[in-house]
Amino acid sequence: FNDTFSALPTTVFEEMSLLAAKHNSTNLGQGFPDNELEGPEGMKKAATAAMYEHSNQYPPMMGVPELRQAVAAHSARQTGIAVDWQSEALVTVGATEALAAAFLALLNAGDEVIFFAPLYDSYLPMATRAGAVPRIVQLHPPSWSLDTAELEAAFTPRTRLLVLNTPHNPTGKVFTRQELEAMAELCVRHDCLCILDEVYEHLTFPGTQHVTLRSLPGMHDRCLRIGSAGKTFSFTAWKVGWLTGPRDMVAAVAKAHQFLTFTVPSSLQRAVAHGLDKEGEFYLGLGALLQKKRQLLVGQLQDIGFKILPANGTYFLVADFSALLPEGSTEDDVQFCYRLTKEAGVTLIPVSAFYADRATAPRNLVRFVFCKTDEKLQTACDKLRHYF
Ligand code: PMP
Ligand code: GLN
Repeated sequence: FNDTFSALPTTVFEEMSLLAAKHNSTNLGQGFPDNELEGPEGMKKAATAAMYEHSNQYPPMMGVPELRQAVAAHSARQTGIAVDWQSEALVTVGATEALAAAFLALLNAGDEVIFFAPLYDSYLPMATRAGAVPRIVQLHPPSWSLDTAELEAAFTPRTRLLVLNTPHNPTGKVFTRQELEAMAELCVRHDCLCILDEVYEHLTFPGTQHVTLRSLPGMHDRCLRIGSAGKTFSFTAWKVGWLTGPRDMVAAVAKAHQFLTFTVPSSLQRAVAHGLDKEGEFYLGLGALLQKKRQLLVGQLQDIGFKILPANGTYFLVADFSALLPEGSTEDDVQFCYRLTKEAGVTLIPVSAFYADRATAPRNLVRFVFCKTDEKLQTACDKLRHYF
């Protein structure tokens, strides 16, 4: 079998959700909203109606026109970036396929790709399989700051691509304009392309603005932006994603997409078009809703003994559990998460899973997901307080 994949464990999200189910534990691990918080009713109706009112045969390879138009209009509204819906927008099976297709389409063997760690777990296997040589730049806790000198040192004559995820999973960091300006300057200087994973673009807390790197000088023609209905509408099971960018880059990615999945279920595409056009209230309200949920956790977790790391967005919270370990304990984040699932009945994600090399990753951090009902968040806090 293929060396890249056969050496991999099952993704941590599946591993921890299965473990949570086995122990009947409160699952604040894998990132998905509770059913009570899922997307607008109007979108479910639109999906069902589309199944009856439209063809149920292969839709166009690039996506149904309604959704590509809606994606283009959403881009113009949110970022001011005009997108030609016919040539600059592609619909994919979730952001996951957009990422995979982009790596396959943009890279040749030996091309160097810059990533920031911690990083989402699909990036490295897919990019490596596409021939990439990863160059990883560390973000430094507790504020996950970026050292621009370290970023600069990662660029070489072989650098082809930079991958940026903002707002960021797992840290909740929203990259600042200053950091983006430094990145833009380096990308222009080294003629480097960018994949912008912006699936959490609407999940910023009030007072924080998501800025897309594509809007900075010199970046328009070198950036692909990726979005996801899973995150924008809290419908993670729908697996509808989209990608926008310069015509030549989108055309290249479409060549990979046509042989990965060819197309995406059309009823769901039409429902997502309805959502982007008509359900702005839902996604524009997510940031404020999520900030309240984060606040529900923060004070209680601090009282229990967790140290909370700062964040400005997403539905993830990273906490340092060192103070909760018995004197002299060498327990790491994976062992801690297993113990908590089995003994406290709360499931979290070990942050070292977001590092290529667990040996050099921080081993004192866990990720909580808080796009859950207040009752479930309270139950988790109560269980943890009781346990510790
Ligand atoms: N990128 C990031 C940073 C993610 O957290 C996720 C997971 N939700 C994805 C991409 C994949 O998104 P999708 O479910 O749309 O494939
Ligand atoms: N993005 C989600 C998370 O970070 C999980 C997606 C998945 O399970 N593949 O929790």
